[in-house]
Amino acid sequence: MSRTAPIALTVVDALLLPGADAGPEWFFGWLQVGDDGRIVAMGPGEPPPDAHATPVLDAGGAIVAPGFVSAHSHLFTSGLRGIAPDSTLYPWVRSMMELFRHTEAEDMYWATLHGSLDFLANGVTSAYNFMQSGVTWLYDPSTARNVLGRVHPDEYTTRQMDGTVDAGLRAVHAIRLDDESGPEEQVLERFGRMVDAARAPERAGRDQHLGVSVMGAVQWAAAPRTAELEALVMREHGVTDQAHFVETAEGLDVQRAKFAWYDDAGALGPDLLLGHFVHPTDAMVHRVAEAGSPVVWQPTSNGRLGSGVADVVRYRAAGIDVGIGLDDQSCTDVSDPWSNMRLGLYSQRALHQDAAVLSARDVLRMHTLGSAEVLGVADRVGSLEVGKHADFVLVDHRAPSTGPVWDVVATYVLACGLRNLRATYVGGRCVARDGRATTPLAERADAELAERIERAAHADGRRLAVTAEQLVSARARGVEAARGVAGPGRLTAPEGARA
Ligand SMILES: [Zn+2]
Repeated sequence: MSRTAPIALTVVDALLLPGADAGPEWFFGWLQVGDDGRIVAMGPGEPPPDAHATPVLDAGGAIVAPGFVSAHSHLFTSGLRGIAPDSTLYPWVRSMMELFRHTEAEDMYWATLHGSLDFLANGVTSAYNFMQSGVTWLYDPSTARNVLGRVHPDEYTTRQMDGTVDAGLRAVHAIRLDDESGPEEQVLERFGRMVDAARAPERAGRDQHLGVSVMGAVQWAAAPRTAELEALVMREHGVTDQAHFVETAEGLDVQRAKFAWYDDAGALGPDLLLGHFVHPTDAMVHRVAEAGSPVVWQPTSNGRLGSGVADVVRYRAAGIDVGIGLDDQSCTDVSDPWSNMRLGLYSQRALHQDAAVLSARDVLRMHTLGSAEVLGVADRVGSLEVGKHADFVLVDHRAPSTGPVWDVVATYVLACGLRNLRATYVGGRCVARDGRATTPLAERADAELAERIERAAHADGRRLAVTAEQLVSARARGVEAARGVAGPGRLTAPEGARA
């Protein structure tokens, strides 16, 4: 395989794990990236003789695998790790939304930028991103009603788009319709403006744009009209919809009853994705399989919030396509795709008391190509194949050593983790190295996030355990430690850190 266009990068001496359905599962070889950031050629053994005239990345025998795809994320939550640590879904959401009432567009920009850089640093190169709604809702589970918290200007949404764009993460921007916040025409007009903003050349012109979607909100809606309007904008703007559905066991009858709203609106089908789908009835599973709607599974989040175990084995057996997401950084507090795969895998095996119900290969595919498929972007991302974006991770299974390799995929999925992740590449360009995004914006994002979330917390009458100022000085001590004698183990949290 070869072509005439200029080569931007040649990766050599890699243990390649392409993640494609066709071809070998793994091989030792090389990969070439064109100047458009796409893979132009790959193969076993030595690269073409002229390859060394181009920039070369010597993988030194380390694993090169597809960047992970998170099919369900909320990147603005990056400043809320550890929040409501022992709460279930509704009080946890409430705790966040009360805070976000006090945030402005620039706060959302920095929070989303930080969250996006965190994904890249952890090997996630594409994400479906539910942006925080332009209307802050305070959901009351006791009445199953949404209470209007605050209506924000358009920039509140568009600056979140800018956050993912500036970070260099590939993203599907998911926009909530907020139809219950005002007259229909106004709501539809606003949604149209946001779709246009996401598709504007300054954002979509870079090839990291993966599309636009509706943040399905029927689960919190008061009437079936929400489902009808979502179906309407899906058709009108040619966008998908992902709805959080039957995520928690609380108020299950009310939640389940709303499934018919989507079905009656004609929304079910490959373009309506069901996020979580932890507690469906048999009839719902059957109907979703029949309609071809995919399910998006968030194993870490479902555990952290005590939501339940989505029986993914049952859905797959019914013929439903399943993708995997890392969800909020406030409920999947470490955006670690390896840990997410393992939690998911182990929860299914424990649930079914059978280790053969789901394989390491299955969860890897679900967090890469499978997620790309359910998002409708598998023509561009999800596997290392000629013509696709060169989005990959460099993972050294020998540092720290994971020992002899019996099975390459099993070592990658079961024995590797963030500690083995050396670098992340998007479009053949290095965007993160050793757990840190390479952009000069990264350091500022840390400081901006800390200060802005602290300000919002104070406005809401809350106090952080560790102040933004203490956070910076703690990091400064970390830099000292990294340079010389003392190891990071010498780091101690500021006074009152565990209060
Ligand atoms: Zn979610």
